[in-house]
Amino acid sequence: MKLGIVGLPNVGKSTLFNAITKAGAESANYPFCTIEPNVGIVAVPDERLDKLAEMYNPEKVTPTAIEFVDIAGLVKGASKGEGLGNKFLSHIREVDAIVHVVRCFEDSNIVHVEGSVGPVRDVETIEMELVLADMEVMERRIDRTRKMLKSGDKKFQVELELYERIMKTLEAGKPVRSMSFTDIEEKKLVDQLFLLTSKPVLYAANVSEDDINSDKPNPLLEELTNHAKSEGSEVMVICAKIEEEIAQLEDDEKAEFLTELGLSESGLDRLIKASYKLLGLISFLTAGPQEVRAWTIVKGTKAPQAAGKIHTDFERGFIRAEVVAYDDLTRLGSYNVAKEKGLVRSEGKEYVMQDGDVTLFRFNV
Ligand code: GDP
Repeated sequence: MKLGIVGLPNVGKSTLFNAITKAGAESANYPFCTIEPNVGIVAVPDERLDKLAEMYNPEKVTPTAIEFVDIAGLVKGASKGEGLGNKFLSHIREVDAIVHVVRCFEDSNIVHVEGSVGPVRDVETIEMELVLADMEVMERRIDRTRKMLKSGDKKFQVELELYERIMKTLEAGKPVRSMSFTDIEEKKLVDQLFLLTSKPVLYAANVSEDDINSDKPNPLLEELTNHAKSEGSEVMVICAKIEEEIAQLEDDEKAEFLTELGLSESGLDRLIKASYKLLGLISFLTAGPQEVRAWTIVKGTKAPQAAGKIHTDFERGFIRAEVVAYDDLTRLGSYNVAKEKGLVRSEGKEYVMQDGDVTLFRFNV
């Protein structure tokens, strides 16, 4: 799963991205490495792994991970190819969701490309580039569908109507994300368009060091929050600068620093968790003396496909899954007790995996 970090220049994207890559580099027992300079991989924080590690004393603990891509260089005119715009737009096409960093801090030393701080104006500037890029895609698509319609196949009529509805939304300057598609077939068609504005967005409001933990009303933040609400998106408040500092600290220092700031969790951890939720992801867990590990799946994934995340053979030869809920397992303290109490269930091919299922797959080789 990949998230793209976008935003106008000088809003704090690189600062946030540095925090992410530093945090990623800290977790040394990681089966991942840096792939490209603009890609950072971080562990998804999961307290359940620590608890299971206490129970199983495994050789290693492996959290699941999420990828962030720094998509710098998006400026006004990007959809017309300005500032290498098209290249950046194609990067956005490859991500599953977008983290849109919005500057909500005043700092006269840091130039704003538009001359003043204005969160909603900034969001709309970026959004407009994405809307224009989507319009180009839709124009071609509509042309092609009109031609196909001449063949007389009625299904193209349905498609054309949908595409025209999408075009109208875009022409009004609105993202496709703001539309609702009730029909499953319709949803499928929309997914196949790979539109930029249909990707889910999480706004990261980058506030100043003084504002991160203050009750003082912040009009810039309020403005952004109202805008996000109007399209059903969420806002996360973060201070990129503080995150960059936190990411350089050792674990115990980190806890101390957060307490000093009156925060219970780093903004980065909150961001990762929120991104996970935004993407509709959950984790199932595996636990044994060798390894305690979390695995990412999309909500609604069935047992064989979840097994396939571990190994394709597990999916092909799937027999059943032995599942115990994390809460039951930790409450009872051992797998055997859970089994005696009948809380280890044997689930078949149609079982829909739940978040926190501690699972052992049985399969034929
Ligand atoms: P980018 O162009 O969006 O990648 O922005 P940068 O991350 O390079 O940040 C631009 C400038 O703003 C740098 O000088 C940062 O140190 C500064 N900056 C970023 N986040 C914050 C913040 O939370 N507070 C303050 N005061 N400055 C910040």
